[in-house]
Amino acid sequence: MRVVVTGGAGFLGSHICDYLLARGDEVVAIDNLLTGRLDNINHLFGRDGFTFVKHDVSKFVHVPGDVDAVMHFASPASPADFERIPIQILKVGSLGSHNLLGLAKEKGAKFFLASTSEVYGDPEIHPQPESYWGHVNTIGIRGVYDEAKRFAESMTMAYHRYHGVDVRIVRIFNTYGVRMRPDDGRAVSNFVVQALQGKPITVYGDGSQTRSFCFMDDEVRGFLALLDSDHVGPMNIGNPDEYTILELAQLAVELTNSSSEIVFEPLPADDPARRRPDITLAKKVLGWQPEIPLREGLARTASYFAELLGT
Ligand code: UDP
Repeated sequence: MRVVVTGGAGFLGSHICDYLLARGDEVVAIDNLLTGRLDNINHLFGRDGFTFVKHDVSKFVHVPGDVDAVMHFASPASPADFERIPIQILKVGSLGSHNLLGLAKEKGAKFFLASTSEVYGDPEIHPQPESYWGHVNTIGIRGVYDEAKRFAESMTMAYHRYHGVDVRIVRIFNTYGVRMRPDDGRAVSNFVVQALQGKPITVYGDGSQTRSFCFMDDEVRGFLALLDSDHVGPMNIGNPDEYTILELAQLAVELTNSSSEIVFEPLPADDPARRRPDITLAKKVLGWQPEIPLREGLARTASYFAELLGT
């Protein structure tokens, strides 16, 4: 297959490029490097079947030649970015998704949307199945990401129903691992980097809010299984092992043998109280489930950050 990967220089996008190339697919990676980094794909330059294009996909996207699949992973995704670059997030989720659906339609290609557990907002149902419609504050600070992705899902299904485009939608739950940005502001990267540097670990609120963390290798394996499947419509891909944020902070300290203390800071607005994927559908349709426990994945992530930061 010849696959266009938007956000190809990002955390997840760059791993997708690796996996696709490893199985013999050709890859056209597109990224405007707003939050993506060339460091993530430097090893791919000069490799057969790999092309990189620096471009903002919220503007018209032209890709010469045949395309078999378009995987739309371009978007800043850390809550810390939601207040820093809100308009770009809205544009890449809405205008970008429209442009890439247009490209998929034109090329007769499959369209694969990177959606998010954020479509569930601060969920009133736990764990969250795909059938749950969500609880999102449209005008809140997280709304720029949540609503852009909700719009993207609607647009994807409209292109499927109206234009007959073959589509896949993955709802990604908190994913972590090698190639996260050390300063991206998320809990895993903040805690591990703070622990490695002996700085205070910043838990927001009382740390009783929960998340369910999936290591990137498990996550990307799930993406490719979904891409290759016949399943149209959203599918949760995530690790249902749920932890409080305080537990995550303690684990980061333990695994790095850190002397850091845990400090408590104000909880940001609309921060979901709990989140855990119901992955019944993925297990049934794809035979997929995560394999890497948090302890192992976090240790691998800590080694990566330690090397990157020279600690
Ligand atoms: N969080 C925290 N300290 C940090 C960064 C995040 O306590 O330094 C909390 C955040 O408030 C949220 C959880 O950790 O409750 C997960 O945050 P993250 O930014 O990783 O992703 P989210 O799941 O909120 O999109």
